[in-house]
Amino acid sequence: MRPAEWFAATDRTAFRRAVRRWYAERGRDLPWRRLPRDPYAVWVAEIMLQQTTVATVIGYFDRFLSRFPTVGALAAAPESDVLHLWQGLGYYRRARMLHQAAQRIVAEHGGEFPRDRDAIAALPGLGRYTAAAVATFAFDIRAGILEANTIRLWTRLAAAAGDPARQPLREELWSLAEEAPPRSSPGDFNQALMDLGAVVCAPAPRCGECPLTSFCAGFREGKPERYPQPAPKRAKEEQEHASTIVHWRDRLLVVRRPDGGRWAGLWEFPRVEKTSDESWEEAAGRAVRAFVDRPFALRGRRLALTHGIMHYKVRLCAYDADLLAAPASGEDSAMRWLRREELESLPFSSPQR
Ligand code: SF4
Repeated sequence: MRPAEWFAATDRTAFRRAVRRWYAERGRDLPWRRLPRDPYAVWVAEIMLQQTTVATVIGYFDRFLSRFPTVGALAAAPESDVLHLWQGLGYYRRARMLHQAAQRIVAEHGGEFPRDRDAIAALPGLGRYTAAAVATFAFDIRAGILEANTIRLWTRLAAAAGDPARQPLREELWSLAEEAPPRSSPGDFNQALMDLGAVVCAPAPRCGECPLTSFCAGFREGKPERYPQPAPKRAKEEQEHASTIVHWRDRLLVVRRPDGGRWAGLWEFPRVEKTSDESWEEAAGRAVRAFVDRPFALRGRRLALTHGIMHYKVRLCAYDADLLAAPASGEDSAMRWLRREELESLPFSSPQR
């Protein structure tokens, strides 16, 4: 069924009442909900929750808010401090955008989070969902939200066939999400939908505990887990990276990733993408020469690991190398020689860590 048809055939008052009653009794107790209507806390939580589970986010959220309790504190911090606190959460672009948006809020809105949905959406790093989430959760604005949990919930309620990542279903779900919240307390209603999607209408649906069975077309069909229809799987592209830990006396060479690309602003040991016509050792040597113009001796391989990033599968092999003459160049903003214990002070990507 199309989502609009399902909603037209639904008793909206009864549906909204069932959602809200369940939320009052069973809604999740999450740290960012304990700070009443704090747009900064809602925003930080929503950015962290993109691509990351609630269980992982909770510890990061508490540390982030104690280190940067206000938009102003975040805006005034050096970017490397923000990235350092983000270390391990991945998708570091989110942290950089959060930092830039905080600076915009200070510069253009006097440090007050804008209340207008369009002004929120104009901030760096806030897409359609996040802008609506901050508007509805922090300011109780009647806005629709659509993310993984609510997509699963709506597609099952409506028994909506099609790939929800694509049109026309994507926009149909957005329209439904916009129309569904009541005029009074739409923020709580939206939180309730997300919780229902996360806790009850989970990937393995717990229909026996669901307050919405009488409204649910997927349940009536008898196989709600067939929704949402999975998107066709895209094969991961494979890459091979060699990274070399260069030793000079008790120091190790680390370099900063340039702005704009993957892992921008993070630090790492010299790393190159291995080409198909070179050996791992040749690639490890090339990683050294990319940064140091001095003779060196490559030791054996230290470790190999495979990790995924976006749609890439990366095999990373790490080597050690001893520099045989003092490095010519000193340190600068993109290159440092650190003692092992000093590495903790810089943000590294997870595989490099
Ligand atoms: Fe999801 Fe089952 Fe509830 Fe339908 S009845 S919304 S499939 S948990």
